[in-house]
Amino acid sequence: MIIMSVLVGWLCGWVVNDLSDVLPATRKLGHPACQKCQTAFKWTNYLLMRRCAQCGATRNMRTWAVQFLFPLASLLIWVFPRPILPYALGMVLLVFFSVVAVIDLEHRVVLHPVSLFGAALGLGVGIYLRSGNSIASGILSTLTGGVAGFGIMLALYYLGVFYVRRTAKKKGLPPDEVALGFGDVNLAGILGLMLGWPAISVCLFLAILGGGIISLLVILGMLIAKKYHAFTAIPYAPFLLLAALYLLFS
Ligand SMILES: [Zn+2]
Repeated sequence: MIIMSVLVGWLCGWVVNDLSDVLPATRKLGHPACQKCQTAFKWTNYLLMRRCAQCGATRNMRTWAVQFLFPLASLLIWVFPRPILPYALGMVLLVFFSVVAVIDLEHRVVLHPVSLFGAALGLGVGIYLRSGNSIASGILSTLTGGVAGFGIMLALYYLGVFYVRRTAKKKGLPPDEVALGFGDVNLAGILGLMLGWPAISVCLFLAILGGGIISLLVILGMLIAKKYHAFTAIPYAPFLLLAALYLLFS
């Protein structure tokens, strides 16, 4: 069984790498291509993580990191099962979270098809996890969580837009970047469905705290390096996902 869980982890690592390579380029499922020269990989070369046959570019660090971290994560979930979260569901969530995090870190975007899939997944997972007493209360908690997650982040999004516009106007600069992407708002809605109310409020609090601490460190670093730029956006999606991961798996 332990070997099985490592194998399943390895397969899930393939899926995460494949979706992270294909989705940002095509917005739909398809054949992975070389990041550098866009030549389509042969499946065998892709799965064996060989370099590109056309231009010789090696596969990136992320490919290797995902491919080796996933079997480890799979093993951990198998050996230390959560009472409420079955192994298979845990792996599905981990694959989804990883695809969102990798694409957000590499492209600074949460893609709409991924958000739509996430909303359906979140609805199913949320109702499944919280229908212990009655289905009606499970549905209610799930929908309230979704609305709360989306609504709170939407308010923060407009607050960010307002702040950036005002600061830019004062300094006579064009507003170039908003503090929070709209993808983060969608993601908070999805996580709200999964976690339900009131757990989503804890998730948002942890994510904003984590993002804030990292932002402060980044600003300090930029001040020390004398490269301070007021509108540097922090990708919040990884913080939201880490907080949700902690709440779901702890
Ligand atoms: Zn290539």
